[in-house]
Order: sequence, then structure tokens, then C-alpha cells
Amino acid sequence: MFKKVLVANRGEIALRVIRACRELGIATVAVYSEADRESLHVRFADDDVCIGPAPARDSYLKISQIIAAAEITGADAIHPGYGFLAENAEFAEIVRASNIAFIGPTPAQIRAMGDKAEARRLAAEAEVPIIPGTPGPVADIEEALPAAQRLGYPVIIKAAAGGGGKGMRVANDEDEFARHFALARGEALAAFGSDAVYLEKYLEKPRHVEIQILGDEHGHVVHLCERDCSVQRRHQKLIEEAPSPAMTPELRAAMGAAAVKLASRIGYVGAGTMEFLLNGDRSFYFMEMNTRIQVEHPVTEMTTGWDLVKEQIRIAAGEPLTVPAQGFQLRGHAIECRVNAEDASRNFQPSPGTITVFHPPGGPGVRLDTHIYAGYTVPPYYDSLIAKLIVHGNCRAEALARMHQALDGFIIEGITTTIPFLSRVIQHPAFQAGDVDTRFLERERHLLGEAEA
Ligand code: ADP
Repeated sequence: MFKKVLVANRGEIALRVIRACRELGIATVAVYSEADRESLHVRFADDDVCIGPAPARDSYLKISQIIAAAEITGADAIHPGYGFLAENAEFAEIVRASNIAFIGPTPAQIRAMGDKAEARRLAAEAEVPIIPGTPGPVADIEEALPAAQRLGYPVIIKAAAGGGGKGMRVANDEDEFARHFALARGEALAAFGSDAVYLEKYLEKPRHVEIQILGDEHGHVVHLCERDCSVQRRHQKLIEEAPSPAMTPELRAAMGAAAVKLASRIGYVGAGTMEFLLNGDRSFYFMEMNTRIQVEHPVTEMTTGWDLVKEQIRIAAGEPLTVPAQGFQLRGHAIECRVNAEDASRNFQPSPGTITVFHPPGGPGVRLDTHIYAGYTVPPYYDSLIAKLIVHGNCRAEALARMHQALDGFIIEGITTTIPFLSRVIQHPAFQAGDVDTRFLERERHLLGEAEA
């Protein structure tokens, strides 16, 4: 097993990884930017190294600085968390070349799945259903326009290298398509350094349902059932739950088998997520794979009892999976709300600043993954996620009631947060009934902020 793990991340996920290491008896190294000196991950780790100024490109994305920090502190493994360098194949390569273990899949796996068009091709090869679309990137508008017509509007233009809900544009007709195609390519180039885009049919009312995968170096791949992440704003997840209210045992078996088949085909090693869109008629389509731990992993942990981060570390150390292929029981229901330092009534504008009052919620079945505390200043430089509130109950109704009271009892003052917005969403009759799709918030605009204005 590793002796010392460097966590190449910040915020709640850095703390999450540090806690898992502690349980495994592994020492930890925190890296931090000048803006994160007062961060809890720095205090909780055994060692810490400042890796540069506040902007992520000068610190959390600076590969040379991170490798140097690992070498100086004698770390024998690096956990990338999510975001930042987590899906950067070059980073994984350099880590390995420096004789440090990368807690994640191989660079080739990151590369293959990081290119969404290539991932689609691999899925099709494995006979996993994919959303109707172009077989690969489309070169120009002359090629794209007839392809869009063949698919039938609406279509979605997606950056092959995209992620985080960015680099996607929906076109409802030919006029819109020509405009959005140029915009999408420009955005893709600016955000991801590549203007390769491909087209998919835009499904009208799908649910986002994803399967958690674990694979080890000994050829085992298992899935730990699904998460439903249908509550989204601008293609970004806000609330996730497990199991999916739309799931049946047959559908779970079919989606699980498809996910395992695709992961096995590439000999996947580590934790990963196969994302699918699920239609009302129970047809499902592979959308993409994320080759890292996900923000929403706790709902799987709460319902399966398995610690996914500890599993990631064990797998990277060459140990065989401890999760049985079959034979674990799903227990109850879990819901996660992403709490952001944002003002929902002002178009979710970030609201950085100093937290003056902090009262976390508690009680049975309540878990809070966060790095904030009273007196902490949320810096303006990074993602505005400040806490993940996760509840577990014996059934969905109990989990809903727990989430309601937990959000009510969660007090953060000094900055504006999305807690009131989340509370409105979970009380909405459609969410209560488990009857939402990815465009739920688009339709229910009043939930976004009027009550707070
Ligand atoms: P990212 O990697 O940026 O998160 P994804 O490909 O995972 O992008 O898509 C994010 C979200 O965008 C999905 O959960 C879904 O809501 C929406 N989406 C993506 N592709 C389609 C599609 N073909 N039809 C309908 N919605 C889509």
C-alpha cells in the first residue's frame, strides 16, 4: 500500500480524499494556491506545499509544480480528485513517468474516453446503444448541415473534448444550426483547445441516469448501480439521487451490463462513470464516460455501503476489488444537493466572500461533505461548490423529508447560497413524485429565484 498520497485538488474533494487516506493509514500531502492558505485541506493533511498564485492555471493546473511537490514530500501516489487535472491524460503520463502512482485509470483510457466522439465509437463497437448522431467530428458547416437535417431537429452540437456542461449548443432549426455551429466551435476551441464538434439528436425529455463502475488490474469490473442526475441547470447537475425513481430491476440489469461491457472492453482500471440518457419508454443511450470520481459519488456510497475513494486507492495500489460482482444489497435511498456560493435570483451569479455564521445540519442519515467553516472566505477564483449535503433514508419519502429538514437547518451567513433554491426544488410536486427530466428546471423557471428577489 502507498505510504503518502498527494492530493492534487482543493475544497471538499481534497478533504474527502484525505479522510479516506487516514482510514487506510496513509499519510497525505495537500497542495494549495496562495488563495487557499486558510483552507481546511491544508490543515488536515500531514504535509502541505504552496504551488502558486490563485488562478488555477498557475497552481492547481501547473503539472510541474505538483510533481515537484510530490517529489519534495516523498509522496508515492497522487489522487487528482475531480476537475482540474483529473481527466488530463498527459498529467497521468507525467505522474507515472516520475515513478509516482496515479490514482485513476491509464493515460490511454483517459484519452480514449476524454474524446467524446471516440467514446461513442467504442460504445457502438461494444454494441452499447448510443444516441443517434454523427459517427465522429464534423469538419465544417457543409458536412454538418446535411447531417443535422438527416438527424432531424432539434440537434445538439457537442465539443468532442467537452465536459462540465460546457461546449454544447442546441439548435431547433436550420437557421439556428448555422449560427450555433460556428459559436459552438469557437467556444470549444477557447475552452478545450480543440474545435472538433459532433452532432447528436437532442432528446426531448430524457432523464440523466449514470452507472458507477469499478475495475481492477486483475480483470474484474463491477458496477454499483445507478445515480439519477436529472435535476440540471444548463446541462449541469444540481441534485442527484440513488436509486433512480425511474429504475426497474430489469432496466438496472440492462444498463449495468452495458456499462460493465464497455468498461471491460477497454480493460478499465479505477472508478468511472458511464453516463446514459433514459427515455420515458425505457430506451437508454450511452452519452459519455467520466474516468474519475464524480461529485455525486456519495449517493452511491450511502446506498451501497462501499467507500469509493478507498476503493480507488486500493485499486491503484494493485489490490483486487473487494466489492463483490453481485451480492451487495442496495440499502434505502440517498439524495445529494450541491450547495453553491451563488445567487439564484441573479442568474446564479457567484457570491464569494467571508462566511460569518455556519451551522451545519445534522441528525440521522445526514452527511455533509464540505470545506467551509465560520470565518472562511470563499475565494472568487474557483468553482462555487461549497458543500454537498447528502441524506440517506430507508425509503425515498424518508430521504426527502430528511433533505427538507436538513436544508431548513443549514445556516450559512455572510454569502448568498443556493440553499433556498434547493429547498424549493425538493418540495416541488414533480420532484417529490420522482417525475423529472433534464429540462425540468427550464420549464419551472419560477423555482430559480422569484421567491428570493
Ligand atoms: P458534459 O460532459 O459537459 O457534462 P454531457 O455529454 O455529459 O456533457 O451532457 C450533459 C447534459 O447535457 C446531459 O446530462 C443532458 O442533460 C444534456 N444532453 C447531452 N446530450 C444530450 C442529447 N443528445 N439530448 C438531450 N440532452 C442532452
